[in-house]
Amino acid sequence: MADKKQNNRRNNRNNDEDYNPKFRKMRKKVCALCSDKNFVLDYKNPEQLRKFINEKGKILPRRATGACAKHQRDITLAVKRARHIAILPYSAND
Ligand SMILES: [Zn+2]
Repeated sequence: MADKKQNNRRNNRNNDEDYNPKFRKMRKKVCALCSDKNFVLDYKNPEQLRKFINEKGKILPRRATGACAKHQRDITLAVKRARHIAILPYSAND
């Protein structure tokens, strides 16, 4: 029974992915802005925007924020506005 199942599998290379750390299974992140209707992104709120930048002040990529494409654009815009009015750093050197 088990052997037959193995033979039916055309591409056995797929098995390798299970052991490759590059393809380790991750829990799918849901967009924080989509999931919370009351969440209003505010460029005048540095506490809120700090979640979307790293310690160097760089905007985190989508794979880190978990935001959808639409909201990642909103986040980027908000962070850039906040930088312009000097409530977030363009860069930070520790
Ligand atoms: Zn979203």
